[in-house]
Amino acid sequence: MGMFFPKVKRKNYWQRFGLRDLTPAEWEDLCDGCGKCCLFKFDSYDESKVEFTNVACRLLDCSTCQCKHYEERKNIVHDCVKITPELLEERSYWLPSTCAYRLLHENKPLHDWHHLISGDRNTVHEQGISVRNWVISETDISEHDIQNHIIEVQEK
Ligand code: SF4
Ligand code: SF4
Repeated sequence: MGMFFPKVKRKNYWQRFGLRDLTPAEWEDLCDGCGKCCLFKFDSYDESKVEFTNVACRLLDCSTCQCKHYEERKNIVHDCVKITPELLEERSYWLPSTCAYRLLHENKPLHDWHHLISGDRNTVHEQGISVRNWVISETDISEHDIQNHIIEVQEK
């Protein structure tokens, strides 16, 4: 269905359809706009954990938490990872536990601050969930310094 009606957003789609059955418009709409997936992260040496940093990709606007060149992002940042149902199957641990895609993949409900529940795209910022005001851009530090900015370690 999504293939034929790419711009359609069905009522309460996130509760009624699986991730693979969303239309492109629903898929994009599901993102909470937190910007956390645009922070640098590393696999630990033994690959059992993911180390999250507070350093954002150079294309992230750290105020709006949006990618500055979303449509062309893969041409500019070659290792930008597109989030797909396949990625979620393989490594959902790579996304923050608050991520809407990860929550639905794990059959969990969206949080109250998600715009689809609150009706307001600002609640993700107001509740301190987004990266607004606490991250730095990679353009502000040297590449070798990024690993000194690990702020959270999660088990895979
Ligand atoms: S972590 Fe998930 S919900 Fe947040 S911006 Fe990235 S894709 Fe969207
Ligand atoms: S290119 Fe854009 S979407 Fe990709 S990681 Fe950077 S800021 Fe995020």
